[in-house]
Amino acid sequence: MAQSKIYKNFIGGEWVESRSGQTFENLNPADTSDVVGYFQDSSEADVNDAVEAAKAAWEKWRLTPAPKRGEILYRAGEILSERKEEYARDMTREMGKILKETRGDVQEAIDTAFYMAGEGRRMFGFTTPSELKDKFNMAMRVPLGVVGMITPWNFPMAIPSWKIFPALVCGNTCVIKPAEDTPLSTINLVRALVDAGLPKGVVNIVTGHGPTAGAPLVNHKDVRAISFTGSSEVGRIVGQAAAASFKPCSLEMGGKNAIIVLDDANVDLAVDGALWGAFGTAGQRCTAASRMIVQRGVHDEFVAKFVERTKKMKIGDGLDETVTMGPQVNKQQIDTTVKYVEIGKNEGAKIATGGSRPNGDRLSRGWFHEPTIFTNAHPKMRIAQEEIFGPVTTVIQTTSVEEAAEIANSTMYGLSSAIYTRDVNKAFRAIRDIYAGITYVNAPTIGAEVHLPFGGVKATGNGHREGSQAIDFFTTWKAVYIDYSDKLQRAQIDNE
Ligand code: ADP
Repeated sequence: MAQSKIYKNFIGGEWVESRSGQTFENLNPADTSDVVGYFQDSSEADVNDAVEAAKAAWEKWRLTPAPKRGEILYRAGEILSERKEEYARDMTREMGKILKETRGDVQEAIDTAFYMAGEGRRMFGFTTPSELKDKFNMAMRVPLGVVGMITPWNFPMAIPSWKIFPALVCGNTCVIKPAEDTPLSTINLVRALVDAGLPKGVVNIVTGHGPTAGAPLVNHKDVRAISFTGSSEVGRIVGQAAAASFKPCSLEMGGKNAIIVLDDANVDLAVDGALWGAFGTAGQRCTAASRMIVQRGVHDEFVAKFVERTKKMKIGDGLDETVTMGPQVNKQQIDTTVKYVEIGKNEGAKIATGGSRPNGDRLSRGWFHEPTIFTNAHPKMRIAQEEIFGPVTTVIQTTSVEEAAEIANSTMYGLSSAIYTRDVNKAFRAIRDIYAGITYVNAPTIGAEVHLPFGGVKATGNGHREGSQAIDFFTTWKAVYIDYSDKLQRAQIDNE
């Protein structure tokens, strides 16, 4: 067992203790007797220090040419590639998901680094004609200043990278408050940036809890924008707080994503997708496939195969390469799963497999739950409407692609969706009719690539997108008019 150590905040290029000297524990969810480390329990005073450092660094950073900023990101991407295995192992230990997935999480940060490095030589604005003679018009992107970021624990390096890398290449400086369950992976990400040559104060980390370290960041008068990923409940609090000072605020929140399986689908392929979509990351993804909407003709075959494959999954410590599903991240998350399994039973749905916490020595020290499938479910049941964020999925029977799309749309969320069919007409109808940020055809609800828009509608998001659109959030527009006529020309008046 690796030794636990004390990790510090990163402010103004130095590793520093919180002003109060308080720390909190970060436990391994596969074995809660393993303390991953002690992290600073920061408060408003620490956030103020971090914002001050970011403000001081901004002047120089915003004047650094964007291609040079991009080169630092590129080097950070290379360093992350070299350290991929080490950082993946750290992440499995603090978060629980299996090594294959944590390697993927680090890879997503690498992809984002390289993608955003290239943005340093694009960051396109536009030119457009003037209505007046001898006048030139253009629109250019400019950075915002200090931006604040609040991130969740399920993608502890990928999500911070989605925010930090675009923010940096655009010329902003940052303060990030990572999730209390997974601060080490964000620290590792920033270590790569520092070793790549990032100047002091450009990125700052303040670890701690939401109300004590996150809220002061949202409320700080010198923070020009907030980028948040987490639950819809907390997103509402963050969004309302940001609105009080008119801060732009990007919110990425929950999901209740559906996989539709039609009668003409390749059922085995759909089962592969269902397993990965429902039980990858132990269901703790905002894009998790927590509903299977299956057409009558293949329903029984799909359920039988899905149950059979689910029973073969191996639960355990994600550091063991033979394990296919790790634990839930913490007690609160496992309690939520247990609660929803009870709710599902009471609502009259049938447990086709799973439904309990597993027994056995190997698993008794962690937050494990069996992968669980409910059948005989109605689309209006709470287990089919509310986000569980655990390894629980619900199969709902349907009669047609039209009804399936209606059911898919019937929750408060709108993040991801998927359809399995070999009929191109039906696939396109689903693409058109499902109201969500993402639709996959013949692939599960998870698997976003970093260079497309990421985000959703309704209670999932407030209109912003990460990925390809992140630079829209981390820049603001400046319209520039250059008159070379040597006389006063009045728009709308002298243009006849
Ligand atoms: P999850 O369900 O993924 O844990 P949460 O919404 O609970 O998501 O948390 C996401 C992030 O928001 C975490 O970093 C958490 O500390 C932070 N957070 C929680 N409460 C608040 C708050 N009141 N203000 C700002 N940030 C908060």
